[in-house]
Amino acid sequence: MDDKVILTVAPTGAWPTKKDTPYVPLTPEEIADEVYACWKAGAAVAHIHVRDDEGRPSMSFEKFEKTVKLIRERCDIVLNLTTSGGLDFTDEDRMRPFKELKPELASYDCGSMNWMHTSVFLNTPPFLEKLGLEMQAAGVKPEVEIFDAGMIYNAEYYVKKGVLKSPVYYQFVLGAPGGIAATVENLVYLRSLIPKDAIWSAFGIGRMHLPILYATLALGGHLRVGMEDNIYYSKGFWPNPTWNSWNAPNALSWKWASPSRLPTKRGRSWDSDGRHLGRLGVPARPNGRKASLFGGTHRKERPFLSPSGVSETSTAEFSFTLTIL
Ligand SMILES: [Zn+2]
Repeated sequence: MDDKVILTVAPTGAWPTKKDTPYVPLTPEEIADEVYACWKAGAAVAHIHVRDDEGRPSMSFEKFEKTVKLIRERCDIVLNLTTSGGLDFTDEDRMRPFKELKPELASYDCGSMNWMHTSVFLNTPPFLEKLGLEMQAAGVKPEVEIFDAGMIYNAEYYVKKGVLKSPVYYQFVLGAPGGIAATVENLVYLRSLIPKDAIWSAFGIGRMHLPILYATLALGGHLRVGMEDNIYYSKGFWPNPTWNSWNAPNALSWKWASPSRLPTKRGRSWDSDGRHLGRLGVPARPNGRKASLFGGTHRKERPFLSPSGVSETSTAEFSFTLTIL
């Protein structure tokens, strides 16, 4: 099992409101503050949605532009812009943010599905072909979101067709009503369907968030946390100040620290004997911007090497995945 975890934070999503939780960040300023806090806590990737002035789902280019600018001014977190900020946007609305703002990643929802038993989440074959080719043209790596097993076969088809490039970066979404249920068996099954060289991450929605998080770690996958997927640590309990930034260090401390060292609040060092979880630098992209990734067992004074020496290899893998298109 690899010793490093790419931690994606999805702080906003399309659906949670201030009524659901006062902590969900909705404005560009709130989102940038939250992403910056998560970056400081160790998140490597920020999956960004925006809302309109009333807090409704939006694909407003101006909101994306402002949010990206505010984040870029403060940190070099890898940006992953959604291409599905709601259910009723045009193809061009969905693609303009990544085409013009050129994040490192953008979401690619690899098929259509019935959504929440109420509507249809439409990703037609012509749209998916266009989306993959436009991402290639823009130099953006697709994060291929998989809501059900059949979508993996869709992805394979698009790899053969040249619409997606190998290695594919998969994000398994378990527990969306209308998609595959959030069970460990289903996670293992999805993992069994993808090529060995694929990079994959997973999360469970709602109350299955933590079981899927633990199982993903055990299987060697990467993680996503945040209020897009789950607003509670446990029912009725909002971590303070937010689930997003609170969960970032905690998710990894569960992997790396002994139970007695679990942190109780954000920002506290969770490892008292000098082991340190920090960010790994990766080579600058051609545009001069640095991507940042999260790394595991290295010490402060040896930021690129773990004691076993595997960090170098893994760093190369990660930088390839996220920066070479
Ligand atoms: Zn999303």
